[in-house]
Amino acid sequence: MAPTRKRRVLLKLSGESFGGGSLGVNPDVVSSLAKEIAAAAASVEVAIVVGGGNFFRGAELSQRGMDRGRADYMGMLGTVMNALALQDFLEQAGAATRVQSAISMTQVAEPYIPRRAERHLEKGRVVIFGAGAGLPYFSTDTVAAQRALEIGADVVLVAKNGVDGVYDGDPRKNAKASKLDRVTYQEALVQGLKVVDSTAFSLCMDNGMPMVVFGMEPGGNITKAIRGDRIGTLVSN
Ligand code: UDP
Repeated sequence: MAPTRKRRVLLKLSGESFGGGSLGVNPDVVSSLAKEIAAAAASVEVAIVVGGGNFFRGAELSQRGMDRGRADYMGMLGTVMNALALQDFLEQAGAATRVQSAISMTQVAEPYIPRRAERHLEKGRVVIFGAGAGLPYFSTDTVAAQRALEIGADVVLVAKNGVDGVYDGDPRKNAKASKLDRVTYQEALVQGLKVVDSTAFSLCMDNGMPMVVFGMEPGGNITKAIRGDRIGTLVSN
């Protein structure tokens, strides 16, 4: 009998979830995040793409006069710091982990090798992908979609701060905007629903990868999303 395959998820954590709203890494915040992920990872294969907005966003730095490519590399380096912080707290919480970086820095992380990442997941290790795609002009949302496809994840789970799913308008600007339980990629793209960037939506749409967009608050949502409870918004074809 073929062994039953575990659920495999790709969790995207934005940089904001590391800083608790401030610049840099807040150890208390990362520690509680890590405890939740470590517990859920006991029964599900978990790979994580980390954002870096708590350090730098290339587009913002370039608006303030920096070369866009260089600023984007700074953004990618920020994601590696988040990856290392998360690795540390996950290991303190009892999870085995590996960090893979899209920019080679062999002292701190393995290079990104998708088949090796899959092997780690099969062995029960949490794999954290840092440095985005290693390419300027990309976002970590798009990298989450790409990594999910390449490692054969069942779903991309996009954890958001300050919003609990996809809305039919911008909830910060329109008090009447309401949360959608389900939306298709086509609808999200046509209506310009921007909670996740359009490149990530279209990559998932073209390759039939489902996505769940959910809020980090209240605590416990990451556990729910990882084990497949219905929260946030399901985006699919
Ligand atoms: N970035 C990039 N290429 C990538 C991933 C990220 O250039 O493949 C840069 C980009 O400048 C981005 C920054 O890294 O603004 C941090 O990533 P992101 O904004 O996606 O982080 P989040 O908003 O999720 O915290």
